[in-house]
Amino acid sequence: MEYKPTIGLEIHVQLATKTKIFCGCSTEFGAEPNTNVCPVCLGLPGALPVLNEKVVEYGTKLGLALNMHINKTSTFYRKNYFYPDLPKGYQITQYSIPIASEGFLEVKTSKSKKKIRILRGHIEEDSGKSIHTGDITESEYSYIDFNRSGVPLMEIVTYPDIETAEEAYEFLVLLRKTVRYLGVSSGDMEKGALRCDVNISVSKGETLGTKVEIKNLNSFRSVRRALEFEINRQIETLKKGGKIVQETRHLDERTGETKPMRTKEELNDYRYFPEPDLPPLILTDEYIEKIKETIPELPNEKEERFVKEYGISEDYAHEITASIEVAEYFEEAAKLTGKPKEVSNYLMVNIMKFINENGKNIKEITFGAKEFKELLDLIDSKTISKNIAKSVLEESLSSGKTPSQIVEEKGLKQITDTGEIEKVIDEVIKENPKPVSQYLNGKKQVMGFLIGQIMKKTKGKANPKIASKILIEKLNALK
Ligand SMILES: [Zn+2]
Repeated sequence: MEYKPTIGLEIHVQLATKTKIFCGCSTEFGAEPNTNVCPVCLGLPGALPVLNEKVVEYGTKLGLALNMHINKTSTFYRKNYFYPDLPKGYQITQYSIPIASEGFLEVKTSKSKKKIRILRGHIEEDSGKSIHTGDITESEYSYIDFNRSGVPLMEIVTYPDIETAEEAYEFLVLLRKTVRYLGVSSGDMEKGALRCDVNISVSKGETLGTKVEIKNLNSFRSVRRALEFEINRQIETLKKGGKIVQETRHLDERTGETKPMRTKEELNDYRYFPEPDLPPLILTDEYIEKIKETIPELPNEKEERFVKEYGISEDYAHEITASIEVAEYFEEAAKLTGKPKEVSNYLMVNIMKFINENGKNIKEITFGAKEFKELLDLIDSKTISKNIAKSVLEESLSSGKTPSQIVEEKGLKQITDTGEIEKVIDEVIKENPKPVSQYLNGKKQVMGFLIGQIMKKTKGKANPKIASKILIEKLNALK
């Protein structure tokens, strides 16, 4: 029997509100330390929290998009622990009844589709940020920035339904897409707007193995690496007859290994108790209905619709819907041109390449649906060949000129005048006696070479169909 990994995720999503969850301080990222603070988020005595309505709206929206049940009454609790970046000595969070519970996301991997169930989603405040100088274990000095204290989070906890590093990775990718489609979070892992802890054990058979937690994974790649390493480490340990220690580990980004870590939560009993300064959060059916109506078409739905409605490949549909802006760009161009397949090809091959190489956003390029139509019409009317179209597209992307402008200015119109093409072909036949005689002796492969010569002389402008037809006629006449 093989060892089977069991993985669960705990993800903190920063909700993209302008102000904090219990006070009016700004949530702006990267501000001067300790400038976005007030008595509430500094935990000064006597300061009282007031719940930010936008946090409730975003939390409800995200819960619904993750197919969760929204609890009409939910409550806030104090989670007690001592740590310098937690000024009140407790974190206000939700406990027994969170705002959302029991949902799922359907994740696609290279092998299959799989429903990963979500246990709960609760809203809570973030802590401040400790900045340590020196090594992670032997800090010399610690600094605390309270700008992050009180920033709203939604914690999403999955069931341990995940069995591979790839599934965990795809779950996170889909979650990020979803929060971006909804506009409830930037989903930027590098700015801490999406943070992930994982629980993992391996086992043979029914009894679950000892669970290890890996904390503070701050990129999609880290999650994947940490899990791949940890699955392997646990299996190898057990195979050698060793035991897995229940502990918290962290990923060493330099080596890709996970290592045991001292944490602030060790030996902690959080002594949860109801937050006396906040009443229960009560939502009406009308409120939940109203939020439901604001949920746009979600990534998986859009992806499936693109395949069905536009007949593009599943891979392209997956990539195009990765960003809502790219998806909207595609759909507009597909509709206007009536040629979705061509649009998806040029978009994924040429346009995305240009965007990635130049660090641009799809919204910043001047080549839109109208220009797409112009380009495809030029090919349709045989004014330019598909080959030339590619260079016209590239030129249009970098210069901002329209396709017809470029074709006009550079004289790229395809030569369809048979007289002109005949002249060139006569030259090519004259200049290449050897390939011509090879052709006449039955070596048909030299056709490609001769066509190449014609294209070279016309700078790619000869209509290839007409050119090859005339060439064959002329060669056969030599027999
Ligand atoms: Zn504040």
